[in-house]
Amino acid sequence: MDFLDRGLALIRQKLSFVSYTPYNWKGYVQVCSWAATVFESYLLLRQYPLYSKPDPPPSLTAHFTPDVYKKSQDYGRDKARFALVSGLYKQCLDSTLLHFGFYAWGWRVAGSLLTYFGYGPEYEIIHSIVFVFLTVFVSSLPTLPLSVYSTFVLEEKHGFNKVTPSLFVIDLLKGYALAVVLGAPFLGAFLWIFRWAGDRFVPWLMGFMISFQLLMVVIYPTVIQPLFNKLSPLAEGPLRTRIEALAMRLRFPLKHLYEIDGSKRSSHSNAYFFGLPWSKHIVIFDTLIHQSTPEEVEAVLAHELGHWYYSHPFKLLLVSQLHLFSVLSTFPAFMHAPPLLRSFDFPPEVAKNPPIIVAFLMFQLILTPLESFIGIAMNAISRRFEYQADLFACSLYDLLKSKDPTVTGSKDLVETRDMGDRLGRALVALHVKNLSTVWVDWLYSAYHHSHPTLTERLARLELYKQKMEKPKAD
Ligand SMILES: [Zn+2]
Repeated sequence: MDFLDRGLALIRQKLSFVSYTPYNWKGYVQVCSWAATVFESYLLLRQYPLYSKPDPPPSLTAHFTPDVYKKSQDYGRDKARFALVSGLYKQCLDSTLLHFGFYAWGWRVAGSLLTYFGYGPEYEIIHSIVFVFLTVFVSSLPTLPLSVYSTFVLEEKHGFNKVTPSLFVIDLLKGYALAVVLGAPFLGAFLWIFRWAGDRFVPWLMGFMISFQLLMVVIYPTVIQPLFNKLSPLAEGPLRTRIEALAMRLRFPLKHLYEIDGSKRSSHSNAYFFGLPWSKHIVIFDTLIHQSTPEEVEAVLAHELGHWYYSHPFKLLLVSQLHLFSVLSTFPAFMHAPPLLRSFDFPPEVAKNPPIIVAFLMFQLILTPLESFIGIAMNAISRRFEYQADLFACSLYDLLKSKDPTVTGSKDLVETRDMGDRLGRALVALHVKNLSTVWVDWLYSAYHHSHPTLTERLARLELYKQKMEKPKAD
């Protein structure tokens, strides 16, 4: 702990100028956020003409009928146009709020509300919680029309929307209620740790965040998800038998196998797994089950189990903890910095003794531009993991054989030999059903995509297959 304390003190000392030198932090945030928006718009403009290409790439020609290809191009074009307009709209909104001292206004109004209910300035944690909910709620209202448009016009037009207006409102209200029920105690505990641990908050807060994430792993499927969707055990049948057999052979600790009514909201399809290391749950969208054969769904799950086999979720968790650690260890330099708050229009009486939540939010605003770069790096890692999981599915037969050479002849093991082909077919089928974009600009993809494009994945699957067949030919 001593080593950690010394390291943290050094960072704080190096950045100590922040606490007394006035900078135009607000101007910096404005310039950076506009730069990011302009760059994102530029990416969309690079991608946009690809939606006018008359034919799919040669490797996909066989899978896309002219009609489906046209539908996918139309859908992509509409989404790109929407992304461009909504991106610019959101940036104008944020920029205007920032310009007129929105956060200082929020702090003042939250304070007045507290006074009205008889709470004095000594209730900083309650004041902070009211402040966060107020600013988040008020700033989210003008973006509501965007999600209405996206759901009821854009997705509707292309045949994906299944949300009724009443479901939309219910979802929204449930979301707000959940934010209050979960968010308020979380924020309260978060701020209480700062107050209790003082400048030595870093290890305590890290411990708290990890515990909270673990808690979410347990309560998300049991409490939160059922509020929005119905999870029912996957019916007995060929699909269930296949998945259970696959999980058993890989010693995947499968506790529950669910089908989720994703079709309640959208026709887009998916599958995923989650849970603690010793108790995992697999969830398959009903849309996926109805759109693909059991063999293909099994291949999609073989890919998912590849993520588990290589501990991808754990590795991503480690990276996110590292990220959190670097954010928290830089924060002390911004924690007692009156000029920072003054720059965001907070009055001198608030700025001279900065409330933790305000200092933390302003610090986050300053970090936002850096987050774009971190996002690009995370996407690159994630794409690597996707290839690895594809390779896992492809080489499943060899892997299982090496684990237990005595079962070489068993029928269901031999069946896993074509898992790579099945995965390829499943990916194509999902792509077609979701009308996903076919042509992708490389820079747009590097910035936005956590998954390689379909053509890239199919090419790689083909390569794996050739590599695996080679030794047998010798
Ligand atoms: Zn994946």
